[in-house]
Amino acid sequence: MPSVYEYTRDELDELLVGEPRYRVEQVWHGLWSEGQVINEITTIPKALRSRLYEEFPTSIEVADDVQSDRGSTRKWVFRLHDGATVETVLMSYDDRVTVCVSSQAGCAMGCTFCATGQAGFTRNLSAGEVLEQVMFAARAAAPRRLSNVVFMGMGEPLANYKATVSAVRRLHEYKGLSARHLTVSTVGVAPAIERLAREGLPLTLAVSLHAANNDARNELVPLNRRYPLERLYEACVYWVATTSRRLSFEWALIDGVNDTDEAIDELARYAGPLRAHVNLIPLNPTPGFLVLGSSSRRVHEFRDGLEAHGINVTVRNTRGRSIDAACGQLANVTNAKRRSIPVRSA
Ligand code: SAH
Ligand code: SF4
Repeated sequence: MPSVYEYTRDELDELLVGEPRYRVEQVWHGLWSEGQVINEITTIPKALRSRLYEEFPTSIEVADDVQSDRGSTRKWVFRLHDGATVETVLMSYDDRVTVCVSSQAGCAMGCTFCATGQAGFTRNLSAGEVLEQVMFAARAAAPRRLSNVVFMGMGEPLANYKATVSAVRRLHEYKGLSARHLTVSTVGVAPAIERLAREGLPLTLAVSLHAANNDARNELVPLNRRYPLERLYEACVYWVATTSRRLSFEWALIDGVNDTDEAIDELARYAGPLRAHVNLIPLNPTPGFLVLGSSSRRVHEFRDGLEAHGINVTVRNTRGRSIDAACGQLANVTNAKRRSIPVRSA
């Protein structure tokens, strides 16, 4: 069953053929500006509402809803029409409200340190299922306005290329979000990065690098064997040249693995010529990867080391760890199944 958010404005016009024009306006406004589900759009007559709702019931259903950080981080587990489940995280900050959406149920990329990768792949989401996550979060965020959408939940967005591009396009055209507010994170599917560059979409691309030498990256990110750092670099150069936008590199700091002085030099050599921004995230604990995240002292030394090389760098604070809602922790793990992993905090 398609989600109503799959529809373009023209397609919705066709669907409502015979209705006065202002009705189409009302439905569109309700869906995209108010983020209402169809049976809540009370500006349209009940009969039409029921007909549309029967045709387009909400395609995501809340299976779990948990909060942390005194309510400013919220995670939902959504059950989709076929029983597949995905997770969505809403994070409220002083200056912005960000939703982190899933693009796939599970992920086939198998990054060793990532809970989603450890759980394996179920299926691609449709653009509508991605957009329903955004709109659900937008409703929950009210009265604050949802300002940012990041494709950093479960799944590899560029392995679900068409749905990702379609969702991004609609978020831009219908929700008014632009490059600084739309981020797609990829593990480094080089040809898809180049294809995405040619779409001309206003978005920020984040590449999950984690290691800047092939031996180390092969271990952490198996896709590196297919698209090694040299090939990924070409795609990054192409991205910057084609879109005139800076890209960012994500780097989850793992104790003794990719937080060494040598790693600083390698990353600086890789990111420097691209003028890429580096985002450091202390590794979050996951059940299948029993190596610790770097200590906060080392995280800051690593940042300082990169800055000394002239690299633009930020340390991302970790939200939602206690509810398994932080980067890389999404895997539909229930409270009962959650295992406790040591977290170094010194
Ligand atoms: N598949 C995409 C987007 C989803 S993962 C990608 O890999 O980029 C979102 C981010 O979380 C990525 O940067 C990923 O490398 C990071 N991540 C995965 N596991 C993590 C962990 N255990 N701790 C910190 N970050 C992690
Ligand atoms: Fe997939 Fe991204 Fe996790 Fe790798 S880090 S397994 S690409 S979700």
